[in-house]
Amino acid sequence: MNRKSFSMAVAALALLGAAPLYLDNPYYIHMIGTIMIYAILLFGLDIVVGYTGQVSLGHAGLFGVGSYTAGVMFFKLGAPLWLIILASIGLTAGFGALLALPALRVTGPYLAMVTLAFGTIIQILINEMDFLTEGPLGIKVPKPDLFGEKLTEHGFYWLVFGLMALSLVVVDRILKSQLGRAFEALRGSPVASDCMGVSVYRYKVYAFVISAGFAGLAGCLYAYSEQYISPNTYNFELTVLFLLAVIMGGRKTRTGALLGAAIIVILPKLLDDLEMFRQVSSALAVLVLIGAVIGVVKKTTTPRAMAIPVVGTIALAAFSFWLQSITDWRLSIFGLMILFVVYYLQDGIVGFFRKLFFRRTALGGDYHGVDLGKDAITVASNAAHSAAGSDLLVAKGVLMQFGGLKALNNVDLRIQRGTIHGLIGPNGSGKSTMMNVLTGIYVPTAGEIVFAGQTVVGRTSSDIALSGIARTFQNVQLFGEMTALQNVQVGLHHTFESNLIDVALHTPRYKREDQAGVERGLGLLHFVGLGDLANEEARNLPYGKQRLLEIARALALDPQLLLLDEPAAGLTAPDIKELIAIIRKIRDHGITVILIEHHMDVVMSICDNVSVLDFGQKIAEGKPAEVQADEKVIEAYLGAPAA
Ligand code: ADP
Ligand code: MG
Repeated sequence: MNRKSFSMAVAALALLGAAPLYLDNPYYIHMIGTIMIYAILLFGLDIVVGYTGQVSLGHAGLFGVGSYTAGVMFFKLGAPLWLIILASIGLTAGFGALLALPALRVTGPYLAMVTLAFGTIIQILINEMDFLTEGPLGIKVPKPDLFGEKLTEHGFYWLVFGLMALSLVVVDRILKSQLGRAFEALRGSPVASDCMGVSVYRYKVYAFVISAGFAGLAGCLYAYSEQYISPNTYNFELTVLFLLAVIMGGRKTRTGALLGAAIIVILPKLLDDLEMFRQVSSALAVLVLIGAVIGVVKKTTTPRAMAIPVVGTIALAAFSFWLQSITDWRLSIFGLMILFVVYYLQDGIVGFFRKLFFRRTALGGDYHGVDLGKDAITVASNAAHSAAGSDLLVAKGVLMQFGGLKALNNVDLRIQRGTIHGLIGPNGSGKSTMMNVLTGIYVPTAGEIVFAGQTVVGRTSSDIALSGIARTFQNVQLFGEMTALQNVQVGLHHTFESNLIDVALHTPRYKREDQAGVERGLGLLHFVGLGDLANEEARNLPYGKQRLLEIARALALDPQLLLLDEPAAGLTAPDIKELIAIIRKIRDHGITVILIEHHMDVVMSICDNVSVLDFGQKIAEGKPAEVQADEKVIEAYLGAPAA
């Protein structure tokens, strides 16, 4: 965040915090309080939905767990406020871990169904366990005591405000740290996350647990705010409303969460009052129109793209004046607005305005005092100690069967330390399959693989990656919505020892690790010639640069062995030259390379040894020149016996 938006955020928060001083009406104070409580939940929900890209329809259930933890602890035990808050967060986080379990197995619509069932079960449990929860009767919860005195309405407002501001800061710090990058990487490419040593399994659970913790805090505050809780509140409608709030406000932004919370609290009330509905829809139409005009003038958008939002909001405003009574139309208007946002404002309202006013989403781009002269490749440190020439990787009798197809058939491979080993063969001969087997994406049907004295077979991809095998992918697997630098920083995840507390408090340890990460990340980008594109989103890079970025990201893992799957595919001739130089430099740093490549000139010029696959079998091996002259190889490539 730059200084200007930071001061704007502080000013907005100050205005919000001071609300009881200029707003006399207790009705509005309670309403803003509710918005802030929902916002706390939405900050957390956004971690799961916006960052990891999972769907959760279980968050109303988690909200309920938080409320009932507070209600029961007050009603049965008369526990003090601070204990109740901590218990609500902790217990709900535990339920979050439960909710994460299905997310490890299913995604998309199936996950939506399972999480929905989770929420329903919680609601039923609250209803049925009346020995604890008083069942459908509900529990009365008076405003809490703080420092021995009962909080007034205003006092409670400030408590909620304080906790909301604290949540805002903590969530923001989490999402900008290595944890947030790990969450976002899951969305971008789960396979690549695992191969960068970021365990998809672990970080999905983390995301749900942290998200649930915030839902628990929100639920707890909600119980005190309403002063009465009953099972009906935590229903299907509420959970859908939460999800819509994230989508409408805009995912991956805290402003969006606050805005989304405001919408779901205010909109139902707005649709009860025709006069207010007319004013607000007119104001909205004017805002969108102004936004569109500015956008078109600044050339951040086209008149065509703006036509539908502008016409839509003007139509809504016109419709509001034509209406005689709003009650019959409530649900239809609500539904239409939702459809409109989902179709035309896919980045939500905040995303929409951001795109109009800033050509690019705001990125923290001030890297003061970063020393780019430093050599980014510290890789060799562990590799260089071992004698060059010895075997780094030995595969014996590897068989990989897909149904009846033997994609790899009894393949042996020896890779010597410090060499570039070419792996070639016609399309479909099993080269990529070999890489997937070496990196744990596939478990071979038979055979053994030993890397640096450790067996590989049966270990997880992230574990193998952390032990020193890095890779790139034939079909580029970048984290598209993340910047080039952030992509590399995901590769540097293993250099972080700081935990959630370090991240939340910005301890010296975290600051040190983060700074070091930025420096090395930029250094690695320079190494592959992408230094000027650090803040560009990976999906916006040209194809050739994406391939180079994958190499930089792989190097961030400090690998002993680097697997490159057709790195020159789609590159122009000058780019290929540069690539060859880069691969040579990587080898000179002591990193062993396995190179799959179709460009024979590349293979012949830089490989020390070459193995040739055909129909899953190794048909030749040796020095490049020997292999090139081998009859079987010529036959495999040309499809006919050599003359
Ligand atoms: P290459 O990289 O040498 O072009 P691949 O290793 O991608 O070849 O594929 C080797 C063979 O294995 C191909 O026939 C391919 O269709 C098959 N194959 C690869 N992965 C799978 C899979 N997950 N399921 C079924 N068949 C696969
Ligand atoms: Mg391939």
